[in-house]
Amino acid sequence: NKFEQLGLNEALVKAVNDLGFENPSEVQEKAIPLLLEKDTDMVALAQTGTGKTAAFGFPLIQKLDPESRNTQALILSPTRELCLQITNEIKLYSKYVKGLHTVAVYGGASINDQAREIKRGAQIIVATPGRMQDMINRGLVDISKIDFCVLDEADEMLNMGFYDDIVSILSTTPDEKSTWLFSATMPQEVARIAREFMRKPLEITV
Ligand code: AMP
Repeated sequence: NKFEQLGLNEALVKAVNDLGFENPSEVQEKAIPLLLEKDTDMVALAQTGTGKTAAFGFPLIQKLDPESRNTQALILSPTRELCLQITNEIKLYSKYVKGLHTVAVYGGASINDQAREIKRGAQIIVATPGRMQDMINRGLVDISKIDFCVLDEADEMLNMGFYDDIVSILSTTPDEKSTWLFSATMPQEVARIAREFMRKPLEITV
């Protein structure tokens, strides 16, 4: 199995088989072995539809500790729609990982319901920047001990004016973590985020 060769464990390979994925996509082939092997930052230039959710989702799921209920990973994405899409994908990918919980956090829905879900124990939070900032301000979420932060569609988030929110959210996360940035393009603002918040990121392009 080609996914096994990339280093994915049994639980993930089983989920991949259920989904009917036959071959890893290019971004998956490039990103997965690197992210699994090393504790590294990464900048990946990849468009939507390239399978990038699995490219960061698989390594994330495999590296998290499902036995700890603490929030260990934050995925920021530009829109509610994308946030829900990523959450659904992660849930499909992690279906054989017992005890792993993923929560979607976005505006336009009850903040209290989302807070309650997090409180029950969510290792992965998938959030839009505005609502995430709101939750931090209200003390409804603790991301001070996360090990992983994914910035998905970073160019879109910055286009939508989330620069300040992103900077403020990242500043409440620990220095010792891995940050993985995915973007279709690399405008100044994205490069600035990478420069200020990432350490010697590996770069891949598809
Ligand atoms: P994404 O670019 O992450 O939004 O993924 C686009 C779509 O491709 C999603 O519906 C995924 O479930 C699907 N997908 C991801 N990886 C693969 C793969 N290796 N083989 C087939 N489909 C995939």
